[in-house]
Amino acid sequence: MEERDDLMTSENLEQGENIDATTVGQNNTDATEDKNNDKDYEDICYICRRPEHTAGKMIHMQGGICICSDCMQRTFDSMSNFNMNDMMSGGKMPNISMIDLSDLSGFFGGMPTGNMNMDGMTGGIPNSQRLKKKKKEEKKEKPALDINSIPAPHKIKAMLDEYVVGQDHAKKVMSVAVYNHYKRVMSKVEDDGVEIEKTNMLMIGPTGSGKTYLVKTLARLLDVPLAITDATTLTEAGYIGDDIESVVSKLLAAADNDVERAEHGIIFIDEIDKIAKKKNTNQRDVSGESVQQGMLKLLEGAEIEVPVGASSKNAMVPMTMVNTKNILFICGGAFPGLEDIIKERLNKAASIGFKADLKDKYDKEENLLTQVTVEDVRKFGMIPEFIGRLPMLFSLEALTEDMLVSILTEPKNAIIKQYQKLLAMDEVRLEFEPEALHTIAQRAKEKKVGARALRAIIEEFMLDIMYEIPKDDNIGMVTITKDYIEKKGGPMIQMRGCLELEDKSK
Ligand code: ADP
Repeated sequence: MEERDDLMTSENLEQGENIDATTVGQNNTDATEDKNNDKDYEDICYICRRPEHTAGKMIHMQGGICICSDCMQRTFDSMSNFNMNDMMSGGKMPNISMIDLSDLSGFFGGMPTGNMNMDGMTGGIPNSQRLKKKKKEEKKEKPALDINSIPAPHKIKAMLDEYVVGQDHAKKVMSVAVYNHYKRVMSKVEDDGVEIEKTNMLMIGPTGSGKTYLVKTLARLLDVPLAITDATTLTEAGYIGDDIESVVSKLLAAADNDVERAEHGIIFIDEIDKIAKKKNTNQRDVSGESVQQGMLKLLEGAEIEVPVGASSKNAMVPMTMVNTKNILFICGGAFPGLEDIIKERLNKAASIGFKADLKDKYDKEENLLTQVTVEDVRKFGMIPEFIGRLPMLFSLEALTEDMLVSILTEPKNAIIKQYQKLLAMDEVRLEFEPEALHTIAQRAKEKKVGARALRAIIEEFMLDIMYEIPKDDNIGMVTITKDYIEKKGGPMIQMRGCLELEDKSK
């Protein structure tokens, strides 16, 4: 093979002689730039699409095309089997060493050769579909995760507190589960034969109560890759919709195609209640029970072959293996109707025996979800094997009016703080009357979509403020009043001069 490499260089040089000197110079700089950009990524064979770590060293051809040695050999073999004698009367087989390899790059896939600009591409494969090279030397110096770098549960919770309002129980459960999960990842079974089991989670909570937000904040604090998917789009392999394994390929993309990082990531599957077993159906349940079945091995830990840079497998996409053993799966859903199942169970228990109570004792109770059990979730339509692989079952509370007010003002990046920052750039102070905040919270609660309604309500009345205030340089402070929210009056405006006088008198 070395001989061929040499040959290729000499062929290229020969061709280069025919091109004028400036183009050659440019080509060289382009090539070095490409090399610099590409050195983080593995080469992919243009013919069989296998990455470098599987196919071995690549032969680089003109136009950024790489061919693995197997495919190159196969090409030569097929060419030498080709009986040229039949075609060329009295002609001889061409000497293999005489073949112009620069012509071959045109032959492979009909790619034109010459001075094509293929920045960031290899044989037409974008970087989003290529694998990052595993860093061998750095691995020893800096492990992807270090037990000392994982904060203790109380520290994780304290960090979550800065962003997420309320949900104390959920934050506590998650902090402990995540801490144990990463301890498990770093422990070695060989030491004492004890294998710590995986702590995947199932989170139940009304819409807009902060499920996604909690997971997002957690992944950011731990600096691990996170993939968020919606279970509604998943179907059994072979049917229209996303393959179950596509969730892993999303995680790989989130980890910048770095398999090692992806294997320590978090996958959040939202709307998990939508894959509950369908009741009273005679058809095959391709998006319900089958998806739960298909997910079992993923949750447990398995080597999954995933496409790189795409959500579905096809001949044009390179594939790689990802082990899900150390990936933390968090499933979340609103589970509408689950409250009725819990209520029914509680009422039944209360009305039996000596301690028989009122039959409808639990009818008016709020936050029934906190009393959820595995049995309730199974009744809802999740199969026992599936629930068994999500051992941490917990719920989030519905947000109250006071919690909504806190969400407006307290978290590090609270919406109101964001508006205050925007107006501070125009040197204008923005204040909200407490009653105004409560009115906004009440309105949001009426919409029954949790904290998600807050932004829409605030944006509606802040539009005029953000439009009018920068018009007048004399305005120093705006106070949003309850009347303004209820459209009965305007906001309170104070001029710069008056504010200065007030400040001085203080
Ligand atoms: P869901 O429970 O439906 O996944 P999300 O997590 O997407 O709800 O919440 C929507 C938005 O509401 C979040 O982006 C966040 O800004 C806000 N939010 C929801 N709950 C909280 C909370 N407890 N604390 C702070 N912000 C919250």
